[in-house]
Amino acid sequence: MRMNDRAELIQELKKTMEFYRELGFEYVPVKRTHIFNIISGSPSGSTPDSHPSRHQVAEDTCDYSMNKEIALRDLKNEIGDCHRCKLAKGRKNIVFGEGKPEADIMFIGEGPGRDEDIQARPFVGDAGKLLTNLILKLGLKREDVYIANVVKCRPPNNRNPEEDEITTCSPFVERQIAIINPKVIVCLGKISAQTLLRSKVAISKLRGNFFSYDNIPVMPTFHPAYLLRNPRDKWLTWEDMQKVMEKLK
Ligand code: SF4
Repeated sequence: MRMNDRAELIQELKKTMEFYRELGFEYVPVKRTHIFNIISGSPSGSTPDSHPSRHQVAEDTCDYSMNKEIALRDLKNEIGDCHRCKLAKGRKNIVFGEGKPEADIMFIGEGPGRDEDIQARPFVGDAGKLLTNLILKLGLKREDVYIANVVKCRPPNNRNPEEDEITTCSPFVERQIAIINPKVIVCLGKISAQTLLRSKVAISKLRGNFFSYDNIPVMPTFHPAYLLRNPRDKWLTWEDMQKVMEKLK
């Protein structure tokens, strides 16, 4: 690597670190070999992008994936008493997520509601009961899967999370995905699917089809709260979940 390239690379790396610091991260997991390659200018080293790809984040996170539980706990500690976005003002609790760190299926919703905010647990209200029943009908237990949300604090009056809130908080769920590295992700509802897939397509069009997030199959389906209001569409979500179970075989 030429000296100029190396200087530019270090500049880019600095910018990336500042970008993450502005988002509130106190550290970013990076493989030691990457640091060594940058410092040594090794041509065999991978060259980080100015904003590391999701794949890069996932790969780097593998450094501590030997103990996913510890990695999740570290992430929770890092989030701390987060005030990085305006949702902090109205929340009672941060709802980090829960479940099996080695889960094959990860369910991702949009954000906590009233009950979740009070109990600091995801999907525990009426919509949560529906999700729990769905999981049981699949022959699994809630403890077998991992459940999280795109934003970790309750939006006021259960409104949809806003763009700036999603942008600030979603790196946390992305890091949860990187740590857990599930075999399938199920996106519950529009916000979750559109955020993960960087899409503006309606959930009614996305659902029922597999997409990919960092080489992990993603199945968008309806949010359980929508199914409570539109019980006739429950069978569509059931169909989507059958596809998920097929994928896991
Ligand atoms: S929603 Fe996320 S970024 Fe915003 S305050 Fe809560 S934890 Fe922090």
